[in-house]
Amino acid sequence: MLTEQAINKVSVVIPVFNEQESLPELLRRTTAACALLPMDYEILLVDDGSSDNSAEMLASAAGQEGSHIVAVLLNRNYGQHSAIMAGFSHVSGDLIITLDADLQNPPEEIPRLVSVAAEGYDVVGTVRQKRQDSWFRKCASRLINNLIQRTTGKAMGDYGCMLRAYRRHIVEAMLHCHERSTFIPILANTFARRAIEIPVEHAEREFGDSKYSFMKLINLMYDLVTCLTTTPLRMLSVFGSIIAFSGFAIALLLIALRLFLGPQWAAQGVFMLFALLFMFIGAQFVAMGLLGEYIGRIYHDVRARPRYFIQRVVKRPSSAQDDQ
Ligand code: UDP
Ligand code: MG
Repeated sequence: MLTEQAINKVSVVIPVFNEQESLPELLRRTTAACALLPMDYEILLVDDGSSDNSAEMLASAAGQEGSHIVAVLLNRNYGQHSAIMAGFSHVSGDLIITLDADLQNPPEEIPRLVSVAAEGYDVVGTVRQKRQDSWFRKCASRLINNLIQRTTGKAMGDYGCMLRAYRRHIVEAMLHCHERSTFIPILANTFARRAIEIPVEHAEREFGDSKYSFMKLINLMYDLVTCLTTTPLRMLSVFGSIIAFSGFAIALLLIALRLFLGPQWAAQGVFMLFALLFMFIGAQFVAMGLLGEYIGRIYHDVRARPRYFIQRVVKRPSSAQDDQ
């Protein structure tokens, strides 16, 4: 059963990195979409160390009379997810919506996200219909989404789309996570009890190019994997065990062949050498996997994610009197 929770204020958080061409339209369309909301709203734009005019444009938009815009300016480029976290630390709404500044996610979808969240969901994710990105990006996303679904078991189809809504308590939980590398949609899902995904439109980037270079994408992928799991480290042990066992099996087979079928099967010990080599290589991987297990545990401890979050404590108000 979902309980409806009141939303008194909506905060929209938008990371901006060298988006001066998109900004006027972004501000116009986002403000227009938010004006349709029945509740109060604010639009937080985080300038992620842009080298163009974005920061000045944001500051002047925020300074205007009656503006719902808040500009948060970072001193240098920290990356999209860090910028969003910086925005999160300044929100005052009950529902927080993230959005890209390049207008690939239409701001017109905001009222729909709000109404779905109002039904009582902690996180509202989105699936991009007819995604307008390069073939390479779509393939990479499909691979990564599969990986996430397999490791978390949570069935969300599209983690890459940043047009999402989070309840205030989810955002607060995320702010309590001390790790330096975060992938926000995954982190949010680890704290969400009720999550839902809705289809949204997706547009092509109109101005400028993607702010993600190939290296930045690889970096993001590592953030995503390490945010999620230390399984790759464990895989080293599994891989090593498989090699070591097959080496051992080959050695046994060679001995059996030599004993029963004669010395020509020994091939002067060459194959035996390979079998022994396999065993040692396997053992090395197992040892690396063990090291990995320690590193994984250190990593968990260092990032010190809180073990739980209490959402609400319900107590009979008269219980103090009863005790007397
Ligand atoms: N962005 C950011 N810092 C960065 C890179 C990107 O704040 O270092 C912002 C960017 O301005 C945009 C959003 O993150 O609002 C998504 O970036 P982009 O559209 O370039 O990514 P893509 O759509 O190619 O995944
Ligand atoms: Mg984009």
